[in-house]
Amino acid sequence: MTGLRDDGAAALEWAAAYLERVRELPVLATVEPGQLRASLPAVPPDEPEPFAAVLADLESTLLPALTHWQSPRFFAYIATTASEPGILAELLAASLNQVGILWRTSPALQELEELTLDWLRQLLGLPEGFAGHLEDTASTATLTALAVARHVAPGRRAVVCSEHAHSSVDKACRILELELRKVPVDASFRMRPELVDLDGACAVVAVAGTTSSGSVDPLHDLADLCAAHDVWLHVDAAYAGAAAVCPELRGLLAGWERADSLVVNPHKWLATPMDCSAHWTRRPEDYVRTFSLVPEYLRTTDAATSLSEVSIPLGRRFRALKLWAVLRCFGRAGLQERIREHMRLARLFADWVEAEPGWTLCAPVTFSLVCFRREGSDAANELLLDRVNASGEAFLSHTQLDGSYVLRLAIGNFRTTEDDVRRAWDVLRREARDHPA
Ligand code: PLP
Repeated sequence: MTGLRDDGAAALEWAAAYLERVRELPVLATVEPGQLRASLPAVPPDEPEPFAAVLADLESTLLPALTHWQSPRFFAYIATTASEPGILAELLAASLNQVGILWRTSPALQELEELTLDWLRQLLGLPEGFAGHLEDTASTATLTALAVARHVAPGRRAVVCSEHAHSSVDKACRILELELRKVPVDASFRMRPELVDLDGACAVVAVAGTTSSGSVDPLHDLADLCAAHDVWLHVDAAYAGAAAVCPELRGLLAGWERADSLVVNPHKWLATPMDCSAHWTRRPEDYVRTFSLVPEYLRTTDAATSLSEVSIPLGRRFRALKLWAVLRCFGRAGLQERIREHMRLARLFADWVEAEPGWTLCAPVTFSLVCFRREGSDAANELLLDRVNASGEAFLSHTQLDGSYVLRLAIGNFRTTEDDVRRAWDVLRREARDHPA
């Protein structure tokens, strides 16, 4: 090993050059299952290799097997960005290798995490009184919140969510052995509160920005129901919560401030590299009651509640460093500018779809996600999506709405420009024209 300075300079150069050329790389990986593995040695090296060999393999062998989430024409699922401050902070966090099992094992890790979550709370216009910490993913945050809801309501074993809630709710209920009641949605894909049955329920999971269409459940109605029945309200704003950075968009999320617990993923629409999920609660003492378990070897006299006492893992990494760096280096204004631009681009794309004969918009465009389809069968739309993705020029994904196969264009990468969105639209129309259903 030549050491951090020399190898680090080469790695940084590779990373910078990668980000400069990522727009022109095929967005979706171009390999078959098993192909990458077969092209690498099946056994580990006996002798040390130079780090340069790792970089060389990254370029020659791994690159075709990468799906480029950093591409500005990645429009699938929920598009994300690892921004430069976030990337650099990840390097520093790994260099520091803090292990936050207790406050004393890294006061900086714990206090920066608490402070940064409070900054983000303020940026999103949430009221005081929410205590926050970071999880790896929204799936873990929802599992954690439902574990608390179950703990504080012994004997109540049902959870209520809409049929459009994320599958992480199903998974959490499976793990926690809770019954999941799925409530039908209205014509705009929002949970119908008049159909909610809270008998024996410990929690409602409301979604503010569903994965399929970006719809928002009726948060005030659900908060009223939860208050009347003393049921925990968890709000999953993993994707769309970021929109609240813009005051004019906060009305779309009105009522989320009444949640007992709330999750927003900075690793989705807030330029923070995977993984970084912000989890707040208005009932931190219930988290301590559920999760605090301090074995003798971890007992201290420090006047601090460690983050391991409010969450599932004992050890945590220095995730807050990258979020802190992102919030500082973009500032409120920088984040607002990008989110407003994504909202504009989504609306523009939706206008193109609406104006084009043979194409239909399939859901209201609430945030930066557009659901649409081409006239013809589900199979024809699926084939069209496959062709677009095989072109390498853009990567989109699909969902089911009202029983139909629907294409989704999700805007969320901070490097995406109007030209990128137009190119995706051109590719869609070209493939539809060249291969009529
Ligand atoms: N909730 C919503 C609304 C989502 O869109 C997603 C992922 O797209 C999740 C939860 C799961 O997120 P994570 O991968 O952080 O667990």
